[in-house]
Amino acid sequence: MKLYELSAARLISLLEAGEIKASEIQESVQKRIDEVEDRVHAYATLDRNTETGSSKSAGGESVLDLKGIPVAVKDNICTKGVPTTCSSRILEGFIPPYDAAVINRLKKANAFLLGKTNMDEFAFGSSCETSCYGPTHNPWDLSRIPGGSSGGSAAAVASGEAILALGSDTGGSIRQPAAMCGVVGLKPTYGRVSRYGLIAFASSLDQIGTITKTVEDSALLMNVIAGGDENDSTCSNEDVPDFTKSLEGGIKDLIIGVPDEYFVEGLDKEVEEAVNEAIKLLSGLGAKVERISLPHTKYAVSTYYLIAPAEASSNLARFDGVQYGLRRDAEGITDMYKVTRSSGFGEEAIRRIILGTYSLSSGYYEDYYLKAQKVRAVIAGEFKEAFKKVDCLITPTSPTTAFKIGERIEDPLKMYLSDVFTIPANLAGLPAMSVPCGFCGNNLPVGMQILAKPFGEKTIFKTAYAYQENSQWHKRKPSL
Ligand code: GLN
Repeated sequence: MKLYELSAARLISLLEAGEIKASEIQESVQKRIDEVEDRVHAYATLDRNTETGSSKSAGGESVLDLKGIPVAVKDNICTKGVPTTCSSRILEGFIPPYDAAVINRLKKANAFLLGKTNMDEFAFGSSCETSCYGPTHNPWDLSRIPGGSSGGSAAAVASGEAILALGSDTGGSIRQPAAMCGVVGLKPTYGRVSRYGLIAFASSLDQIGTITKTVEDSALLMNVIAGGDENDSTCSNEDVPDFTKSLEGGIKDLIIGVPDEYFVEGLDKEVEEAVNEAIKLLSGLGAKVERISLPHTKYAVSTYYLIAPAEASSNLARFDGVQYGLRRDAEGITDMYKVTRSSGFGEEAIRRIILGTYSLSSGYYEDYYLKAQKVRAVIAGEFKEAFKKVDCLITPTSPTTAFKIGERIEDPLKMYLSDVFTIPANLAGLPAMSVPCGFCGNNLPVGMQILAKPFGEKTIFKTAYAYQENSQWHKRKPSL
């Protein structure tokens, strides 16, 4: 039995039955890393000295136990004592003195932390190519990108270099790489999971979420990481259900909305067919399917590329060479800032800082930033109306399957369009999941996206699980 290939839920049941030991799982995954990491390059930092946390949680509340299951963590989530760089030179040598809220929770739940996964620099990108460590390779075809920005996390889970992983999603960075690597990626509702210790990209859009092999593993990991946090005032105190309980029950009478605006020019034919087949399958299981319209969808990408860089330019101002990370000395403080920042940030980060600073400047603020905020409100309102009529929405996750390394890196606009279907959920703060729903002729995975209203993760889990249990896609493994 190759333990690294199994899901967390299956491994936990084997552990509970006494058939295997946690150390065997950890060894199996570590061996797999030794075997394939050279080719996949999923990690920015491997932590070979991991200790699991204590199993006792304060206050006597029920403790979720991951029993030593190996988990990989995206490199923008702070880990005490382990380098955290956002795959950027500007954070070279930065070792956080504290753990992010999600890391605290993982440690309390006895997770075995494997290391930090590679990502696009500061999560700016859709291909994992803007990392200062070089690209991650897609386990299904090493000449292709794994998606981004959480490409390292998705590739690690797909290749068996981790059982579970955390990513972050500002405009699609969990769902798009999950789709391209054939795994399950969930961006929870904005505020469902604490962002304390997540290095900020765009604070009104960022959300930490899960990348897993199966839908039930996503529920399991969400049980560990979701819930209020006094260190993050945007984190909601909304009750956290046991997500594993919302899997069963079927989808009879569920109303699925299929928005016309997500089946448009630019959508790959094979991707479209796979998603349409999946919708047919769900309808066969008793769901009602309705075509709907979300007419403002076409403004989402431009709205996002005003708001996200604006917030990024302000968040990135803190990297000045004074307190942490890279420092290049020069005469006088202004020159020190200049040389440090120009040599620390990569091209895409610099582009976003310039874009964001521009749209926040006096005179342009009203014309661009403020206008984008108004469009954002319209897009959110449109979803709100839709969810009065339907329980969830189904769309493709990304218009194409994984593209070749180097194919879009010189063309930012083409790259930005990879997220045309994922960005709206971030603008509206909605939960959304990508689930494997087929393969294209060239043996590359396709993902289907399921969206629900805020805090409607239960509906997503129920729908995704019903689909998974009646399909086989999640069982295929890349041959590496
Ligand atoms: N690809 C999008 C961007 O470049 C989204 C990235 C993300 O979700 N972090 O901004």
